[in-house]
Amino acid sequence: SAEEANGNGSAPTPEDRRLLELSQRYAEEADKRRREDGLAQFERLQESGSARLRALAQDPWADHAALNARRAVPDGATHKFVILGAGYGGLLFAVRLLAAGVARGPDDILLVDAAGGFGGTWYWNRYPGLRCDIESYSYMPLLEETGYMPASKYATGAELRAHADRIAARWRLQDRALFRANATAARWDDAAQRWTVDVTEGRGPEGQSRALKLHARYLLLAPGIITSPHVPRIPGLASFAGPLFHTARWDYAVTGGSETAAVLPGLEGKRVGVLGTGATTIQVVPRLASSAKELYVFQRTPSAVSWRGHRATDPEEWRTKIASKPGWQRERMLNLDLFLTNAAKEGQENMVADGWTEMPAYSAIIGSPSHGIIEPTPDKIAAHVARLYKLDLAHTEAVRARTESIVQNPETAAKLKAWYPTWCKRPCFSDEYLQAFNLPNVHLVDTDGRGVEAATERGLVVAGQEYPLDVLVLSTGYVTPRIGDGSPAARTGIGIHGRHGTSLDDKWQRQGASTLHGVCSHGFPNLFFAPMGQSSQAANNILTLEVASEHVVHCIRVAEARAGAGAVVEVTSAAEEAWALEIAKHAAWFAGVAGCTPGYITSEGEGWTQPTDQREMMKQARGANLSGGMESYIKVLQEYWAEGSLKGMDVTPAT
Ligand code: FAD
Ligand code: NDP
Repeated sequence: SAEEANGNGSAPTPEDRRLLELSQRYAEEADKRRREDGLAQFERLQESGSARLRALAQDPWADHAALNARRAVPDGATHKFVILGAGYGGLLFAVRLLAAGVARGPDDILLVDAAGGFGGTWYWNRYPGLRCDIESYSYMPLLEETGYMPASKYATGAELRAHADRIAARWRLQDRALFRANATAARWDDAAQRWTVDVTEGRGPEGQSRALKLHARYLLLAPGIITSPHVPRIPGLASFAGPLFHTARWDYAVTGGSETAAVLPGLEGKRVGVLGTGATTIQVVPRLASSAKELYVFQRTPSAVSWRGHRATDPEEWRTKIASKPGWQRERMLNLDLFLTNAAKEGQENMVADGWTEMPAYSAIIGSPSHGIIEPTPDKIAAHVARLYKLDLAHTEAVRARTESIVQNPETAAKLKAWYPTWCKRPCFSDEYLQAFNLPNVHLVDTDGRGVEAATERGLVVAGQEYPLDVLVLSTGYVTPRIGDGSPAARTGIGIHGRHGTSLDDKWQRQGASTLHGVCSHGFPNLFFAPMGQSSQAANNILTLEVASEHVVHCIRVAEARAGAGAVVEVTSAAEEAWALEIAKHAAWFAGVAGCTPGYITSEGEGWTQPTDQREMMKQARGANLSGGMESYIKVLQEYWAEGSLKGMDVTPAT
């Protein structure tokens, strides 16, 4: 009720009434989109039953001739560190291992990636208009160490990819990567005290792929969070007669142009459809709009789009203000995080000063150091969620008002308004997307939450109407990072087996997330991973990856200092249970997600259903993060480092 909405039982104010209206609208919109099939409504491109769709997952970018000419990685060799994933996460692991001296040189490290080069996300994604959404000064890793000044506030995909190559070159890792290599399984060998990773190395269309085994003293997983493209199982999708591709593998043979070109000449005179309206589409639409004869944007749920304010870097500002002192980049990342976690004090300097810093209610999914633990009682949770809605009100209203003020056709504007709290989907920022709907060749096809119902040879079908298309762009996102209840093995898409053949996925299924600090699990010695749960996730993924890689390298360094090179380090069952219980106490903070429209953040609604069974409830709660956000995670880790004894870890010398 309106009385409840204000949380104090007094007479409702206009704001209380608006909040009530909004929460009712949000609930209606979420209900409209809930589906029985949840995650099963999608299929991983790579595993599609259709050969045509499966082929869309292939790597369009690899330079096979150059890669085939590289010295082959020998089958059966032992490496001190194998890192799965050569994106920014894998590179950060490698750089920290080198900096700490636990890797004596690049030869101690082998990075393995299905891609044909470094960069991960920024290798695969090359769609026109791609840029990072967190400002590059905070997002691009190791700017201080590489001395690199980003060209602009939000770097292009090409610049982000080049930066991955720059990092690899600076730390002499170029030859320490096995590319086009799909890891298919990993198994701990207790007798040999090492990991064996099965890998299939592709050699290009003309080459014969090669199966090899890599052995590793330590296995580090950096497989990313949104890496594996998926598509909805829309009947008839593969029968579409025209060219069709996923944004994660843009087909420039069809569109012409380039990542940075304003116009894609191959689309001239064409009717182009783009399916999906997430963060990718927001960046792609302006480029398609200026190139296609007609552009149809198929929408199930609109994104909330705030202002961007993109600009070139001013070298003077860079030198004197942004990069003016050692440690500036971490300070800037944490400053951004303060605003996002609703922890900025009155008068706090706002270094980044962009749209991200105007949404303190984003703290609903990343936590906040300004609040204590939320007790998991229905009234405490309701009051907490009501506070979050209130905190979010000004921002969501401003985003809807912005939509109305930009989009000239009132009907289109109404359909482009987002009716869910800020934290339910990745917030978007653009000074071009909404404006594109004022162009005569751009058409919004809103499906009122139902999604596209079918595809034919000619186009897509919505509400019984067929929209004829020449080209179809699938901007339908990725397998959720919460796949397999957030198991690190599920994110790699491979089986990982520890002591006594225990499967990591099975462990997660059985007991839920089980780690110390989100980075290692009992029964899986010398295995470390980039965290998803039981840690903290910043909006800036690089902050999470930096902090986690520092922690992992600390653990290995201390273990080796105590027990020698190749020491076996394993979290105890007692320590991980204690950490899981601590995490479960924080779970109620994240209850605001229960009211979200389905999407990848909520595993299409599956991840946030309220289990009735006590055991399932506990399993879900253990998968949460620290409600105090990144600041509290860093504090926990710093105390752990200062204590110095690797508490909760068993360390034994290598035999
Ligand atoms: P990734 O970059 O995803 O790299 C993981 C690598 O692991 C991949 O190359 C993959 O091929 C490899 N891999 C995984 N499993 C296997 C296997 N079994 N065998 C072999 N190789 C494997 N985050 C932000 O904070 N800000 C942004 O602006 C931002 N923009 C994004 C834009 C797009 C289009 C996407 C998709 C994501 C974006 N993200 C953003 C999230 C982004 O993924 C992270 O910021 C970051 O790049 C993750 O780095 P990573 O190295 O952990 O993972
Ligand atoms: P998303 O998962 O965000 O978007 C997929 C889109 O496909 C959604 O709009 C979804 O609708 C829609 N969809 C799915 N099934 C159907 C259907 N049957 N009919 C119609 N529409 C359908 O993927 P993105 O690639 O856009 O983004 C993934 C993440 O990657 C982002 O959240 C962000 O974290 C990151 N990213 C960041 C960028 C940046 O700015 N740097 C750019 C791109 C991505 P619905 O919304 O209803 O689920």
